[in-house]
Amino acid sequence: MPDRDDPSPFRRLPPVNELLASGPLAGSIDRLGRDAVLSAVRSTLDDARSRIARGEAIEVDPGALARSAADRLASDRPILRPVINATGILLHTGLGRAPLAREAVEAVARVASGYCNLEFDLESGHRGRRADGVAGLIRRLTGAEAATVVNNNAGATMLALRALATGREVVVSRGQLVEIGGSYRLPEVFEASGARLREVGTTNRTRLSDYERAIGPDTAALLRVHPSNYRIVGFTESVGISELAALGRSRGVLTIDDVGSGALGPGRPPVVVEEPTVLEGVQAGADLVLCSGDKLLGGPQCGLLIGREAVIRRIEADPLMRALRVDKMTLAALEATLRIALDPSRASRSIPLWAFLATPVESLRGRADRLSDRLREEFGLGAASADSVSYVGGGSAPGEAIPSVSVRIEPPLPGRCPGASEASRALREGEPGVVCRVQAGALWFDLRAVFEEDDDRIAGAIGAVVRG
Ligand SMILES: *Cc1c(COP(=O)(O)O)cnc(C)c1O
Repeated sequence: MPDRDDPSPFRRLPPVNELLASGPLAGSIDRLGRDAVLSAVRSTLDDARSRIARGEAIEVDPGALARSAADRLASDRPILRPVINATGILLHTGLGRAPLAREAVEAVARVASGYCNLEFDLESGHRGRRADGVAGLIRRLTGAEAATVVNNNAGATMLALRALATGREVVVSRGQLVEIGGSYRLPEVFEASGARLREVGTTNRTRLSDYERAIGPDTAALLRVHPSNYRIVGFTESVGISELAALGRSRGVLTIDDVGSGALGPGRPPVVVEEPTVLEGVQAGADLVLCSGDKLLGGPQCGLLIGREAVIRRIEADPLMRALRVDKMTLAALEATLRIALDPSRASRSIPLWAFLATPVESLRGRADRLSDRLREEFGLGAASADSVSYVGGGSAPGEAIPSVSVRIEPPLPGRCPGASEASRALREGEPGVVCRVQAGALWFDLRAVFEEDDDRIAGAIGAVVRG
């Protein structure tokens, strides 16, 4: 124990353990983990020592130091931090869409901390092309002639329209004028691109003859957009990509297929049967197929442009290409993900999104039962496993309800957050943050998109809120 009468101000600083046990910090250990709190306490004490060494008169009172460590803890906390996704929405755009495969993360780490041959041909020693490596893999996966990569699919669409159709018309069915969320609305993307939108058909029915009649001297392309996040059902008719591509060919205009989701084919993620794949678009004869990297492919955020060599070269020559280009980390993650995608059975094990979709309901139920038992026994909570429904989300496969299992907790909870919405807020703000659903006044933790090793961390996070 330090002697409080010691005249040396250094000796009057309280020991680390005394601060850790003090009021404002003891509670934080549960919420934020001992390591984070310990590191804040050590930095606070280091800081106090340097200030004493500089001759400043500072407060060495444990209460003041603990408060200052608590402030430091709050401000040191990363703003962007990992959360556990217990919402049952697998590609949750708010939570960063697809988690990367371990191989992809390792590939990012390998290139991120140093230099790499991003645009450099190691054989010749000359400048190389940035997307060449992944283009080769995409060609193998889809049979297309060429491919390139940009920041996301919204960028890919904008770039394609600009490079291939500025000042000219692109024909789109009225049933496919999508809004993907937030700022992506197809008519607005057209306006920004400089291409003219030529709408045909009606919301529920568009025929080949509608496209035929719209083609004229100003037509640059026919565009099919996959209605990724809605379905038109009932009295409907739409034109398949094969028919559309055949029409485009016969009339000398390009056909562009925005499949949205990014399932490349030949394999598809388990459970997902309705989504079109890039492979289908290429085989149907589309000149250009567009998709996202962080939807069903389960890779990093990016937009893939896949198609005929001449079309891809025109796109790459557009000045907007430079503005939308991806960095080395994205390319590293994409390459690793594409390598896994070459073998669909490996994809179902290694790409988290695919593995989540492949998990049998019975396995989720076993985990939910164990977690609920523990929450009942350890914390006296009204917890039980319950059937629930997951969705792919992120604007993919809207019609496909995926059976899942959740842990349901009925309020009131003991402790400072008795109600479901207060408890869900405390869980979001904890460490790790847990994002669950509040439904009919209860908390639902859907396990479909939860890594099995995170089950214990969910229990710990709930425990921290209950004891809080
Ligand atoms: C998701 C989606 C987009 C936008 O893709 P981002 O990668 O999110 O920019 C565009 N078109 C379709 C059909 C989509 O599903």
